[in-house]
Amino acid sequence: MTEHTLTVAGVAVDTRHWIGGRRVASAETFTDVSPIDGSVIGEISRGTALEAAAAVAAAKAAFPAWAATSRAERARILHAVADGVEKRIEELSIVETTDNGALLRSHRRGVMPRVAHNFRFFADWLLKLEHEDFETRGHTNHVSWDPAGPSVLITPWNAPLMLATWKVAPALAAGNTVVLKPAEWSPLTASLLADIAAEAGLPAGVLNVVQGYGSEVGDALTSHPDLRRISFTGSVPTARRIAESAAGNLTPLSLELGGKSPLLVFADADLDLAVDLAVEQYDNAGQVCLAATRFLVEESVAEEFTRRFVEKAATLTQGDPRHETTDIGPNIHPRQLEKIDAFVQRALAAGARAVIGGHRKDTQYYAPTLLTDVAQDSEIVQEEVFGPVLTLQTFSTEEEAVRLANDTRFGLAATLATADAERAERVTAQLVAGTVWVNCFFVRDLQAPFGGSRHSGVGREGGTWSFDFYCDVKNTVTAPNGWKNHG
Ligand code: NAD
Repeated sequence: MTEHTLTVAGVAVDTRHWIGGRRVASAETFTDVSPIDGSVIGEISRGTALEAAAAVAAAKAAFPAWAATSRAERARILHAVADGVEKRIEELSIVETTDNGALLRSHRRGVMPRVAHNFRFFADWLLKLEHEDFETRGHTNHVSWDPAGPSVLITPWNAPLMLATWKVAPALAAGNTVVLKPAEWSPLTASLLADIAAEAGLPAGVLNVVQGYGSEVGDALTSHPDLRRISFTGSVPTARRIAESAAGNLTPLSLELGGKSPLLVFADADLDLAVDLAVEQYDNAGQVCLAATRFLVEESVAEEFTRRFVEKAATLTQGDPRHETTDIGPNIHPRQLEKIDAFVQRALAAGARAVIGGHRKDTQYYAPTLLTDVAQDSEIVQEEVFGPVLTLQTFSTEEEAVRLANDTRFGLAATLATADAERAERVTAQLVAGTVWVNCFFVRDLQAPFGGSRHSGVGREGGTWSFDFYCDVKNTVTAPNGWKNHG
């Protein structure tokens, strides 16, 4: 224990950066607050351009040896990281819940096992990554995935360790070295990950963690000439800043951004299933990029759907995310609550009607809200709220449903409830979305391509797509009898 150690729900967390295999403190700190009750958790090192540069330098120094490490050895170490995560699921879960307010039971049973799976999956995928050789006029083409170099990974607060490791695991598997910049509203589990990785034998400098405000460390990280990849998950305005900052060096970017995804409910759908899918959109207090926040319901069943939705939503328990029976926890920060409420109040002033909710409960919790009488071109239909706020509109033809579904600047996901397989196929083909779920929601396989269209993102990650992004993909063409005249 040092003066830089916090005890969070009984777990020791180092508040400093992790650079080149050493803990490094900044002169300044920022205050980390728990969304559960607004209490201060502690002071965290507040990175500057100096620490950002040191972390990229450490990643650059560690790169040649890590890139030269065999695939089998890289995979072995990633599995050891997964073992370390599995041993600490309880600790990671309670720290994450304290820090970002998402449900403890979800962290224990879903999220943290998934964090371990991120490492195992990309370790195993690396071992089978290959493209069959092919011939061109007797010449052999051989495709290989070469490590690209130091990579900066920047992540948001809504699922901190899950989203961080979804990038860290493939980047490390690819043979890249990494600088991870977690969000300032949920910095703690990234620090625990650094401990776990070091214990698992990941060499110094292969994974670095820089804490702090994006506005203060961001440019120094993303404009660095030694950087070979940037993967970012977060909001559209930040993505624009990063793209500008990366432009000087043409550093390749992967951008996973916001959404305003639709749930289309056709009259032929199993309404109980449709309502279950709809109520799920309050998960994580609505702070889910993939959430289907716009309900588009066929007119003939809209009244019945709404009645059943209200009934089901009334059974949800909102409160302390550490309690086993809680369904909806707090929002991340009072500032986020203000933003959510401002969206809702502007919508109400513009003529929307709150079927349920429409107000804060206190400074940490927002009442689950459903708004109707909203115009397609209104702010509440067009912009991402990132809180427990849903809208309901009706349609009378399939054509209208598709038009409304596609009529925002986003294209992250779409969910369909219908009993008609041909309709599902027809509608899916017309939707602009990186992921479409038919009669289900949030089923995610790590080998599937993941990403958004339009302002929801640039590029795809997942399975081989992740290696395509994090690696320099090379094609080697060898002449027929290539060795004959070369001894
Ligand atoms: P944000 O853009 O404010 O911050 C994300 C990260 O970027 C943080 O770590 C922040 O410190 C950093 N950052 C801020 N300014 C920066 C700069 N100039 N340079 C470099 N880094 C900078 O987003 P947020 O509020 O933390 O997250 C919510 C957003 O993330 C929502 O829009 C949500 O939809 C999106 N999101 C998308 C996905 C996805 O997979 N598509 C997943 C989760 C969240």
